[in-house]
Amino acid sequence: MKHTWKWIVPVMLNQKEECFKGYLDIFRNMQVDMALLVADSFPEGKVLTAGSSREYAEKLREKREYFESNGIRAGCYMGRTIGHSAAMSSTGRTETPLFREIVGPEGDVITGCYCPLDKNFQKYMAMVFKAIALSDITFILIDDDFRMHQRDAEEKLGCFCPLHIKEFNKRTGLQLSRAQLVKTVICGKPNTLRDKWLTLTGDSLIGMAKVIERAVHSVNTHIRIGLAVSHSHWFAEGIEMMGLLKALSGGTKPFIRILGAPYGTQAPDAISHILEYTRLQYGWIKKYDVEVVTEGDTFPHTRFYCSATMLHSYTQFMLASGMPGILYMVVAYSPKPDHETGYIKNSIKYITHYEAIRKFFPQNYEDLGLNVVLTQNSCKNLTASGSVTQAMNEWPGEFIPPVLGAISRLSLPLKYNDTHGPTLLSGHNVSVLKEKELDGFFDTVATLPASSA
Ligand SMILES: [Zn+2]
Repeated sequence: MKHTWKWIVPVMLNQKEECFKGYLDIFRNMQVDMALLVADSFPEGKVLTAGSSREYAEKLREKREYFESNGIRAGCYMGRTIGHSAAMSSTGRTETPLFREIVGPEGDVITGCYCPLDKNFQKYMAMVFKAIALSDITFILIDDDFRMHQRDAEEKLGCFCPLHIKEFNKRTGLQLSRAQLVKTVICGKPNTLRDKWLTLTGDSLIGMAKVIERAVHSVNTHIRIGLAVSHSHWFAEGIEMMGLLKALSGGTKPFIRILGAPYGTQAPDAISHILEYTRLQYGWIKKYDVEVVTEGDTFPHTRFYCSATMLHSYTQFMLASGMPGILYMVVAYSPKPDHETGYIKNSIKYITHYEAIRKFFPQNYEDLGLNVVLTQNSCKNLTASGSVTQAMNEWPGEFIPPVLGAISRLSLPLKYNDTHGPTLLSGHNVSVLKEKELDGFFDTVATLPASSA
C-alpha cells in the first residue's frame, strides 16, 4: 500500500559511507518519499572556495544518484545560511569575521551569523547555492536560521549593524543612532518607525531570498526551493509569508515546513498547544497554492528524550488535522542508522493505521469548533516599557500565542481565523482588527479579555 501523505526524512550528507545502505533499507521499508541530504557545513567558520564548493556539490550528486537509482527521490537540506546562533555555530569564527555579522539591540555582535545586507555575503550565498544546483538536485529546503531574529538572549531582535542603521536612515531621511533606533523600535506603543524597521528586516530576508533564487534558477528553473520557518517568521520578521516563499521559489510551487515538533512535548501540558499551534499555522497557509509539511522532529533523536510513542501520537494528530506531509526526523544524525530504532519500527508498523486516519480525515476537510482569531506579525502591535532593558524582556522570545496554552487544554474543538461561529478574541492580535471585522465577531459570541479591551 502506498501511503497518501508525504514523508521527507533528513540524513547527513557527510555521514560515513558504510551507513548509506542502512538508510536506503530503512527508507524503502518506510516508503519514504524523499531523502533530504543535510548539507550542514557550508558557510561555517571557513568559507568554501569555488573549488571546495564544487567538491561538496559532487558529493551531493553522488548521494542523490545513489538514492534515486534505488527508487527514493533525494533533495538537499541546506542546514545553515544566515546562522542559527553564536552558540550553535559549531566551527564558528574565532578571529576575523568572514562577513558583516548580525548585531543585537544592545550592540552584541552575534559571531558566525551574517547580515543578509552584506554584498559579499550575498555573493558567497549565490556561489554556494549555484554549486548545489549544479548537482542536478531538484529540491532544496533552507533551514530555519534564515531569519533576522531569535538568536538567543543577545539577539532577540536584529539586525542593528551599521548597514541596517544606514539603510534605515536612508529610507526615512532620519539620522538615528543605533541606541535611538532601538528605543524607537522596541519601546512604547506601536508606531510607524517600528513598522518601517520591520519592513526593512523583512526586505533584508526577501533580498537574500532573491539572490538565492536567481543563483539556483540560473542553473535550472525547475528546482524547487522551500523554507523551514521559525516562530519569528510568523510574528516578528516584517514579512508576509507568501511573499517570502515566492521570492525563494521563483516560478516553481512554493514549499513551507511549518513548526511545532514532538521534541517540545516533554512537559505533559505541552503537547496540546504544540499541536494547536501547528494547526494555526496550517490554517494561515493552506488556502494558498503552497506545499506544506509539518515538523516531525525528535531532536536529539533518541527515545529517551522524545519517545517513539510521542512521535506516533504527533503523527496521528497531524494526519487527523489534514496535514499533507511531515519532515520526519526518524534517523539520528551522527550515529549509525540502527542507533535508534523506535521511531522507524512504529513508522512501518502503523502505515495501514495512518492510512485509515487519512481516509477518515481527508486533507480538505472543514474545521469546526470555537473560532480563535490570531493574526500574523503581531509584534508590530505590542506595547512595551520605556526602558530598553525592560522592553527587551517584554518582547516575546518564543512567540507561540499564550492563549493557545490555555484554550488548547480545554478539550474544545478549535478552528482558526474563520469569519463566523463562536469566536475567541485575545491579546494584541485584536488591536489590528478593523472595526467591521470586530462588528462581525460581536454578532456571534465573543470573549474579549480585559487586557485587550
Ligand atoms: Zn545588518
